[in-house]
Amino acid sequence: MLGACKMHKNLDLGVQVAEQLLNVEPENPGHYVMLSNIYALAGRMDRVEMVRNVMIQKCLKKQVGYSTIEVDHKTYLFSMGDKSHPETNEIYRYLDELMSRCREAGYAAVPESVLHELEEEEREFALRYHSEKLAIAFGLLKMSHEAPIRIIKNLRMCEDCHWAIKYISVVANREIIVRDKLRFHHFKDGSCSCLDYCFLIIGDLEILDAGDSNGQKSFQPRGSHVHIRKAK
Ligand SMILES: [Zn+2]
Ligand SMILES: [Zn+2]
Repeated sequence: MLGACKMHKNLDLGVQVAEQLLNVEPENPGHYVMLSNIYALAGRMDRVEMVRNVMIQKCLKKQVGYSTIEVDHKTYLFSMGDKSHPETNEIYRYLDELMSRCREAGYAAVPESVLHELEEEEREFALRYHSEKLAIAFGLLKMSHEAPIRIIKNLRMCEDCHWAIKYISVVANREIIVRDKLRFHHFKDGSCSCLDYCFLIIGDLEILDAGDSNGQKSFQPRGSHVHIRKAK
């Protein structure tokens, strides 16, 4: 119901649904996050702030997300925006370069997924440095060219990471397997084995770029293979 309210931008009803959920389960942080997402979509940043304050007062915090990767029989753990790794600078530099290659290939950040991280401070920053992206950058830096990258994430992957990793699988020419809280995602050549099942529930169509050389805009459901813009 909340997903449908979000999709059809029926924010009044969305707020009612989220509030009902909160009445039933007042200690569930997920409902607060959902409610604040809906307020944020409606541009009611004052309300977003209010919901966040309630969460702080109640000491409710969404579980911290992290991703692990095994390299040379050692497991490395990354959390969002993590800077604890000794090779942090190298990892961030490589990830920035990787993401700019993805953008050249047609990737654009999925803005709504930023909202899932509302309790975090710097949203744009947060989205760019989600733990799975850091772990993937580290794996690509450290592992031999043939080996697939295998990541385990404790929470559900956000839509933006899912979208970005499709592009990464193409620009880095590598198979990437992410096991998140719900399922395995096997990324190869710009698509994922899950067929975007979990995102299609709130699925929509998206303009991928400003248009090709003929000025034609390409509409593509996110569930499909990514559209790769070829370098001239
Ligand atoms: Zn993410
Ligand atoms: Zn997937």
